[in-house]
Amino acid sequence: MRPTLLDPFFASITSLPGIGPKVEKLYRRLLGRDDVPRLVDLLFHMPVGAIDRRARPKLRDVQAGTVVTVKVTVNRHRPAPPGRDRVPHLIYASDETGDLIVTYFRARADYLAKLFPVGETRYVSGTIGFYDGVPQMVHPDRVVDEKGLSQLPQIEPVYPLTEGLSANMLHKTIDAALAKVPVLPEWQDPAFQTRNGFPTFAQSLFGIHRPSQMTDVDPASASRTRLAYDELLASQLALALLRERDRKRTGRIHSGDGRLRKAIIAALPYSLTLSQSRALEVIVADLGKPERMVRLLQGDVGSGKTVVALLVAAAVIEAGMQAALMAPTEILARQHLKTIAPLAEASGIRAEILTGRERGKERDTRLARLASGDIDILIGTHALFQDDVVFHDLALAVIDEQHRFGVHQRLALVNKGEAVDMLVTTATPIPRTLVLTYFGDMDISELREKPAGRQPVDTRTIPLDRLSEVIEAVGRALDDGHRVYWVCPLVEESELSDLAAAEDRFKALRKRFGALADLVHGKMRGTEKDEAMRKFAAGETRLLVSTTVIEVGVDVPEATVMAIEHAERFGLSQLHQLRGRIGRGSGKSTCLLLYRNPLGETAKARLAILRETEDGFRIAEEDLKLRGEGDVLGTRQSGLPSFRVASVEAHGHLLPAARDDARLILTRDPALKSERGMALRSLLYLFERDDAIRLTDAG
Ligand code: ADP
Ligand code: MG
Repeated sequence: MRPTLLDPFFASITSLPGIGPKVEKLYRRLLGRDDVPRLVDLLFHMPVGAIDRRARPKLRDVQAGTVVTVKVTVNRHRPAPPGRDRVPHLIYASDETGDLIVTYFRARADYLAKLFPVGETRYVSGTIGFYDGVPQMVHPDRVVDEKGLSQLPQIEPVYPLTEGLSANMLHKTIDAALAKVPVLPEWQDPAFQTRNGFPTFAQSLFGIHRPSQMTDVDPASASRTRLAYDELLASQLALALLRERDRKRTGRIHSGDGRLRKAIIAALPYSLTLSQSRALEVIVADLGKPERMVRLLQGDVGSGKTVVALLVAAAVIEAGMQAALMAPTEILARQHLKTIAPLAEASGIRAEILTGRERGKERDTRLARLASGDIDILIGTHALFQDDVVFHDLALAVIDEQHRFGVHQRLALVNKGEAVDMLVTTATPIPRTLVLTYFGDMDISELREKPAGRQPVDTRTIPLDRLSEVIEAVGRALDDGHRVYWVCPLVEESELSDLAAAEDRFKALRKRFGALADLVHGKMRGTEKDEAMRKFAAGETRLLVSTTVIEVGVDVPEATVMAIEHAERFGLSQLHQLRGRIGRGSGKSTCLLLYRNPLGETAKARLAILRETEDGFRIAEEDLKLRGEGDVLGTRQSGLPSFRVASVEAHGHLLPAARDDARLILTRDPALKSERGMALRSLLYLFERDDAIRLTDAG
């Protein structure tokens, strides 16, 4: 149960004055919530800068382009003539040193008459311009009387806004929210707090929203750092709690005698790379331990993670238990089945698939076989963690491309067995800080080596103006029997417009290359997608136009050419993922990055990195430098929660401390029952990581 002390934070903003249904909608948009925003959402809405209103010059001394607050007497109004509302309403004012013209466009005269009563004194704050040598202020930010002056912020935070919501309204609402902030028990270690000069949580909120220095709103300010650290600690604590639970001693040993592994290895048309053998050894050793395994298998595209996952599964199956392999898309799940089926057959493993497509009788039979233990490994999509999917004895969950799944989904699968070991694979090389951020303290195995015989991909950047040459080159490649991917760009953050672009390109290429060309995209039905992929893999079609649905995992070793349109719109890691679809066989491969001119310096530098290197780790680090963390992980698409206050760029260096802190806290107080533990529970609630508490209390 959430401590009642926190109730004010979770009250809806409609409880604040001036927020009716219409304004509430605006706040939903601003704060990115589907539901009514709460005070906490508002308080975590961080400023992006600040305006300094402290300058109080006389009118004689004001300078163009500066923000000033001037004390003036209102002399007279010159309203816009009736019917001519393009003419501004002017207010003539002055102090003892000079004049000021205050200018409003399309404003109501009666409103302005009240705001600027003739003969009275007003303080006007805004940016100075000059008109005909006279100081002028167009639409002042603030107009107050003597009484209002004390309320006028000296340093005013500047927030991201949304259309229809003025800075003024937002300030008022935030002020009202601040007034409800209670004093909370401190959850940070006192010594640590002092050493870092951290204000309290409440002080930090005030420090940010009512800054007294321009630097108070900076990400590096004491207040911002405190809140960021709070958030990082909350996330590390939540991850550590989950991990503790995941790790509970099981007493079960999940690996067998090696006979199935031997049979699979004998059936492989290649030998394992050193990285693969090592990873396998370490992972199987984990299975043999009584603690639960929580391990990340990280390896660049094409490094051969699937076969490692299968061999790990085989070890579990040898011990008479079951394994699950969950992929993020239908295409991938089917491809895994295709890879695994012959090897499973060779070794006598019973592999089956379950996706949203298996329905009715077929599904029922499959589920029955699963429950009775007649299936050894079940491959599938999200369908795997539906309630009616019951295993006979699930001991291993392999989760492919983990960052596409949320923590809940991961748990839903792991909970289908008793003390299930978990292996998570990811092809997106994740920088260390991000591993910490998203997975907490997981064990990691890396495949840093590519299978032998791979040739480097020749990557070139070409302006789109030369599209016709590129099409000719593709034509020659097709004549020579090659297979070609043509990837269409992300037009907007919308699948529909992507689709239109891909369809147009497909039509054009179809005209030129006839039935050799085919199209696959995310809006196609599963069976249609499969059919398109199958034809391409079989060589029935040889030019595959697609949206980014081929991004992850698709494996057609015969494909040797890839053209990517508008490469400048993709993330580097995403381009690297895409490029990883070629260069998988022994043939020489070429990747053409088509970009639209003119291209800025940064964009050029980004594409150049891809020309230079195929090291996914380096590319990921560069990508992180140039873009936000969400893009690197693809979390923007996956809906994983990202941080509200902290940013990996500004506060990532605090992560190791937060991790250590979390660990220490749980060593001393695993159930968070001490006084500080109770305060830390509040922290978890505030940043909405409280699922972890429920798990802890449930035992
Ligand atoms: P990813 O790590 O991107 O998931 P996959 O598991 O799909 O990579 O493997 C990519 C390709 O490499 C597949 O065609 C697979 O059969 C092949 N492969 C895997 N391991 C080796 C190896 N040791 N030697 C040669 N080819 C391999
Ligand atoms: Mg893969």
